[in-house]
Amino acid sequence: MRASLRHHLWAELRRGRARGLLRTGWRALAARHDLRLPARWDGPLLATLAVTYRCPLSCRACPVSRRAGAEMPDAALADWVDAIADLAPAGLGFTGGEPLLRRATLPAIEQAVRRRLLVHLNTSGLPIATPDAAARLLQSGVASINVSVDHPAAKVHDLLRGRDGSQRAALRAVELLAAARGQAGGRPRIQVVMAVAAATLDAVPALERLARAAGADALSLIPVHDFASAASRRAPWPRGRAPLPAPLRRARLENSRQYLRGILPFLEGAATPAGCSARRSALYVDPGGRVFPCTPAASAGGPGATATPTTLAALFRSGRLEQAVRPDLCGRCWWNCHRELDIALGRM
Ligand code: SF4
Ligand code: SF4
Repeated sequence: MRASLRHHLWAELRRGRARGLLRTGWRALAARHDLRLPARWDGPLLATLAVTYRCPLSCRACPVSRRAGAEMPDAALADWVDAIADLAPAGLGFTGGEPLLRRATLPAIEQAVRRRLLVHLNTSGLPIATPDAAARLLQSGVASINVSVDHPAAKVHDLLRGRDGSQRAALRAVELLAAARGQAGGRPRIQVVMAVAAATLDAVPALERLARAAGADALSLIPVHDFASAASRRAPWPRGRAPLPAPLRRARLENSRQYLRGILPFLEGAATPAGCSARRSALYVDPGGRVFPCTPAASAGGPGATATPTTLAALFRSGRLEQAVRPDLCGRCWWNCHRELDIALGRM
């Protein structure tokens, strides 16, 4: 079992949330076998709320920051948090763009924590520039934070992310968060996430050392996705166990071995396996209130499904959200949260 999953399971058990874990167990079984549960048990395992697509960075392959447009008002954000909490997912991730650019994000995280959700945050780290900003974020009750760093060499990261000084700022954010959390560790779990390309695989061990030195609990990888490219993938997915590239063997990474084995074939253009559970196990709400089954479908910019906070549960339970899955994307998707979930569920 991955360290982050073990960490959160124990934390939830210690908090006396056995009933929520039982519901998660039923949902995991249903997602594994493509079954629909009775309405009162049905809901996503993972929910994501993108609060803004604005971002201080301009990463080369970013599909969303150039699309920043209308955002739901703060009051509507609170309604969406409540609507998602009513569906009782095992976790709710706040993402962007850079979610901490919105003042309303921290109150929304606090609201989700009050609703007993396990809250995760993706950030570039840039808004966490002072000890006060780190302490304020930790006070929100967030359970897990991912900070993006793509390379141990600052100039390479800065080039990939389109802003000078952004690698130093991201690692400084990790240091501040780790210091605010204290030596004892525990919550929140702090991870550095590297968007890795074939040309940067060799840098993984050095980045792992840098991330841990800054105070992160782990380094996690996701291969760079280019959803804008319509290039077809013809290489077959490796049968059996693909070899683990040497740099990935030399680093202690958060990802499962099976996921790591898929990274190089994915980067080399192999078509990824079908059968992802996201259409049953996940839910993504974009800054304008459009609903998607998964992060890649939202990132690729399809129309999604229309819902309001009051109709979200009905939409999810009707199965209509499945129609917003983009089968054309599935063969070129090795998205970490969804594919790792399928690996954990034994679907792959
Ligand atoms: S940090 Fe994320 S949202 Fe911002 S430009 Fe990079 S990929 Fe896009
Ligand atoms: S695009 Fe990716 S995450 Fe979405 S349904 Fe397809 S395989 Fe799953």
